[in-house]
Amino acid sequence: MEETAAAIDTLAAEAPRGPALSPSRAADFMTCPLLYRFRVIDRLPEPPTTATARGTLVHAALERLFDLPAAGRTPEAARTLLAGEWDRLAAEEPDLAELFENEAERTAWLESATAIVDAYFTLEDPRRLEPAEREAYVETTLESGLRLRGYIDRLDVAPSGDIRIVDYKTGRAPREAYEANALFQMKFYALVIWRLRGQVPRLLQLMYLAEGEVLRYSPDESDLLATERKVVALWKAIERARQAGDWRPRPSRLCDWCNHKALCPEFGGTPPPLPEQPATEVMPTHQEAIPEPSLPDA
Ligand code: SF4
Repeated sequence: MEETAAAIDTLAAEAPRGPALSPSRAADFMTCPLLYRFRVIDRLPEPPTTATARGTLVHAALERLFDLPAAGRTPEAARTLLAGEWDRLAAEEPDLAELFENEAERTAWLESATAIVDAYFTLEDPRRLEPAEREAYVETTLESGLRLRGYIDRLDVAPSGDIRIVDYKTGRAPREAYEANALFQMKFYALVIWRLRGQVPRLLQLMYLAEGEVLRYSPDESDLLATERKVVALWKAIERARQAGDWRPRPSRLCDWCNHKALCPEFGGTPPPLPEQPATEVMPTHQEAIPEPSLPDA
């Protein structure tokens, strides 16, 4: 992972510095332009929460699971990986260990992550899978010059050549009304893969591990062209906001999960002055968009 990050930094340093957008930040702007500003322009730090740390840990364990020989990808092995990944993450990021007041809290949290990993095995059998790529960094540049990029949890390629994009979610599955929002991220990735490889992915698969639910969608070219139009229109709206310095708050139920409520005028706060040289792009991370309204997380 560190090597990957270093390689990306090198690539980023060598690449022409055009504008770039990841699906999480696109979702932020759609949710609330001021939230986008806080995250992208101001780059305000966001301390980890138990929910985000659990997501990071589960993703890390599931990624490592496929390092094992197929026959060894058992729930027991996954639990061992989870414990090891927690030790590694806690050593790398001391903030994580400080999330817990005592050992009992930490143990309960680790058990909740273990339950999610156990639930993964009710959805598929990793012994029968051989992912083509995991934590795959993908990037493409649209004709407009906008770069789209992000990390795909898993890419599966069937013997027929069909591509499946898989994303793991540790929050709750969205209600039907919000499924389109959930699929936007997947269509965004599908668009990038289509542009990179000239092939429309056959299946987009969102795995809501905690609830044992899977959302599947088969995109076609018209879907992905519509996604491209949407992304380009979104970028134009972001550019207009940037040029006008007008990042309006858009309050919603999601404000309850916003890290920057104290700075938000909707809640009596005052945003910091805009940076003199605002950032024009974001390196994608696994920082999620704030959860869907139906997804309160512990
Ligand atoms: S509290 Fe709500 S309105 Fe304010 S920045 Fe956060 S998401 Fe936007």
